[in-house]
Amino acid sequence: MKNPFSVGLSGGIGSGKSTVADLFAARGAAVVDTDLIAHRLCAPDGAAIGAIRDQFGAAFIDADGAMNRAAMRDRVFSDPAAKQRLEAILHPLIRAETERAAQQAQGDYLMLVVPLLVESGDWARRVTRVLVIDCPESLQIQRVIQRNNLSEAQVRAIMASQATRAARLAAADDVILNDADAGALLPQVERLHALYLSLAAKMSQRL
Ligand code: ADP
Repeated sequence: MKNPFSVGLSGGIGSGKSTVADLFAARGAAVVDTDLIAHRLCAPDGAAIGAIRDQFGAAFIDADGAMNRAAMRDRVFSDPAAKQRLEAILHPLIRAETERAAQQAQGDYLMLVVPLLVESGDWARRVTRVLVIDCPESLQIQRVIQRNNLSEAQVRAIMASQATRAARLAAADDVILNDADAGALLPQVERLHALYLSLAAKMSQRL
């Protein structure tokens, strides 16, 4: 991807990031999902597995060689220092893999899906424009309970570890409201896709 224009897509858990990213991809955006990259790094033979085993011990690696996500989730929820150590392993790898994928991506412009973009200033600086998927917290909870089979308390705990709805909106250049059926997303996606095409064209002319 030669064009330097890029959109960082973010939003709370269950807000609809993946759903919206798919709609942009279908229209020609080159979508790189940092969550997928993080998952791959922690899959069997993933680039993070060696360091996780060294620093956290074999109890955090499954028999198939993947990170034991449940064990790690419990660990980092109760121990901020452990969370920092895990992030110190993962963040540079995620960053490097994302840049590699961005170089290879083909499309009209780059769209990086970054769940914690607002929480980490680095990503906000990396992208030209921040797009936030917004939805009421009650809907987030309902969707994630259905999708991940979690309890309301578990979903609320995850949400409490993320930026607030207001903080995300304050960091946004653009907002898509996902509080109705999927059809209501289409005109919002069409409008922003047209804007991003024109901004990407302007930016490449200036090169
Ligand atoms: P995120 O990537 O932000 O966690 P997803 O795009 O995976 O969110 O959406 C969370 C869940 O809610 C998914 O199961 C998705 O299919 C569903 N969903 C998202 N938006 C809508 C919508 N407008 N109407 C109905 N279901 C939706």
